[in-house]
Amino acid sequence: MRDFAAERKRMVETQLRRRGISDPRVLAAMESVPRNRFLLDPNDSGAHGDHPISIGSGQTISQPYMVALMTECLHLEGTEHVLEIGTGSGYQAAVLAELSRRVVSVERFAELAERARAVLEDLDYHNVDVFLGDGSLGWPDAAPYDRIIVTAAAPQVAEPWADQLAEGGRLVVPLGDRWGQTLTVVTKRAGELEHARICGCVFVPLVGEHGYAED
Ligand code: SAH
Repeated sequence: MRDFAAERKRMVETQLRRRGISDPRVLAAMESVPRNRFLLDPNDSGAHGDHPISIGSGQTISQPYMVALMTECLHLEGTEHVLEIGTGSGYQAAVLAELSRRVVSVERFAELAERARAVLEDLDYHNVDVFLGDGSLGWPDAAPYDRIIVTAAAPQVAEPWADQLAEGGRLVVPLGDRWGQTLTVVTKRAGELEHARICGCVFVPLVGEHGYAED
């Protein structure tokens, strides 16, 4: 029988801790969320590999290191109201759900949103709501958000995100063109946005009103 918990422990040691992820809460969440359950094939031999994996609809679940890095950049303490743009498999949403009070996640593909909802429910994550829509518009109904995480490549900080981010809030987003981006942390202080660049990265594009046009 395959030992998924042992695979996750190894993933955390070799891919995350060794590369500098140090927030103990983030490491614990990455060790406890069953990544394999969010894949099309939960028995995928590469479930904990150091790479993204296809999840259907032309989309991918991010590499574990990128999930951990973005989560660490959010500085979550457990009380936050978080907005995620790009639910995909629902894996990142589950990691966020472990570390915050409530998560709202928006996905543009119905097939992905429905599957993510089902897995999250099956795993008893009751503090996550998955909505179908264009996340480049944020999700105004539940705003403001203490944190916003965008898991698709964006051409700029969309105005609705800036508006829906609470004062003192943090937003993590890959900013750039369709082929390469810079992971960026945006903080809102006295109504002004400050940008900090973290590293280069490659995400699938944000497609929508404030994103890119459909291929
Ligand atoms: N966070 C996901 C991976 C995201 S991949 C996970 O943990 O698995 C990026 C996702 O963003 C894809 O599912 C894609 O369909 C979605 N996406 C792209 N543009 C979007 C938009 N405008 N609104 C909502 N979701 C969008």
